[in-house]
This record gives sequence, structure tokens and C-alpha cells, in this order.
Amino acid sequence: LLDLEGVTVRFGARPALDAVDLRVAAHEIVCVLGPSGSGKSTLLRVVAGLQTADAGRVLLDGADQVGVPVHRRGVGLMFQDHQLFPQRDVAGNVAFGLRMRGAGRTEQTLRVEELLELVGLPGAGRRAVATLSGGEQQRVALARALAPRPKLLMLDEPLGQLDRSLRERLVVELRQLFAQLGTTVLAVTHDQGEAFALADRVVVMCDGRIAQAGSPLDVWQRPASEFVARFLGFDN
Ligand code: ATP
Ligand code: MG
Repeated sequence: LLDLEGVTVRFGARPALDAVDLRVAAHEIVCVLGPSGSGKSTLLRVVAGLQTADAGRVLLDGADQVGVPVHRRGVGLMFQDHQLFPQRDVAGNVAFGLRMRGAGRTEQTLRVEELLELVGLPGAGRRAVATLSGGEQQRVALARALAPRPKLLMLDEPLGQLDRSLRERLVVELRQLFAQLGTTVLAVTHDQGEAFALADRVVVMCDGRIAQAGSPLDVWQRPASEFVARFLGFDN
């Protein structure tokens, strides 16, 4: 579904992404791990079309995305600071992507209620965003990202601001939800517990390169380098 071929992004001299090759299959959940500044967010931004690559290609369903604008790529994005629209109610937030697509009012209403049920907030459509807890806001942001049925859902630290117990619960729910919907997911986190619980495949980044990619078990049992081992918390 997604192919990156030699994707390079430079800010000044130092590459934020350095000839990255990555393939994500349909229905796969891939989690990107790595220290701060290793290029995780840049990777998502370049797939979304918010950042242009200096070299290499981004393909979605085999089609080169050069020049294809963000809203035509069929990808959904959810950022860490999920930036709900505070002046709109919950339904207005979730319906955002549907309106952009020109969906009619009835379709919007039905789809919004379906999505709110899916994320565990049935009937919350009329609530003001400011009255929701952090975890509830995160669920609304997820519903908003899912609304246009993106073929690829990208999450940048989706549970970043939540406390540990809520995160652990949401990870389990997310995994079930994605399986149920057959959603393809590319998610960034620097919490390895989260990545290992959510992912079919884990990608560890270091200085703009992929240090290792493999199943959670594989990466855990056979770190490919000292960097990966140390990043995972093994001392030697
Ligand atoms: P974090 O875990 O802190 O979010 P990250 O892995 O997401 O880190 P990126 O945001 O992808 O890291 O950044 C990779 C590198 O590129 C960093 O050194 C960052 O300073 C640099 N960078 C990212 N965006 C820009 C920009 N717009 N202008 C200049 N440098 C940038
Ligand atoms: Mg980041």
C-alpha cells in the first residue's frame, strides 16, 4: 500500500531522513520508534505531503505522490497535540473531513454517530470540546481522522499526553478497532511498550535512517545493532 524508496529530506546540511526505504502492506500496523530528532515526524509528514522529499519517491498504491496535495492522498493524520477545533462541538470536529469531501448533511450525521460509537463516545456529538477529558479528546481526534475512511491512517504520538493506565487501555482498544476496520496504520511513538503492544511490525529509527525493522518479538529478541539494543534498554 505504501512504498518509500530512498526518501531523503534535508534541513540545511543534516538529513532528517537519509535514503529511507520502507514498505507498509495493506492492513498492517507499523509503529515507528526512535529517539527525539531521529526523523519520525518527518517521515509521516513526507507521506502526508506536508513535507517534500529532496530525493526518493513516495508511492501509495503504486502511484508516485509527487505533486499530489494532502487532501488527495487518502491518508488520515492525527498529531500529538490533536488540535481539535475548540469553537466546534464534537460532531462538528468529527464531520470536518466529511464536509471537506462534500458529504451531505444526512450522511454526515449518520457517519458521525457511527464513529462516536466506534471510539466509545456514543451520543457525545453535541458536547463542547472543552468539556471533554484528555482521553476523550484524543478519541474525538481519532474519530475525526477515521471519518473519511483513509486507506492509510498515520498517528504521531497519538496517546502522548495521557497517563499510563489510560494509554494501556486505549492501545488495546485501538488494536481491536484497527483489526475490525482493516485499517492500515503507520504510527509514531517513543513509548516502546505502546509500539510493541500495537504493532505487527516495529521500525526503529536513528539519525534519519532505519536502524531495524521487524516483528516486535524479533526486534526485542535480536536487536540488529548496539544502538537498537541500547535504545530498547539493554545495557549490553
Ligand atoms: P521527536 O521524538 O522529538 O518528535 P522526531 O523523531 O519526530 O523527534 P523530527 O521532527 O522528524 O524528529 O525531526 C528530525 C530532525 O529534523 C530534527 O533534527 C529536527 O530538528 C529537524 N527538523 C524537522 N523539521 C524541521 C524544519 N521544519 N526545519 C528545520 N529542521 C527541522
Ligand atoms: Mg516527532
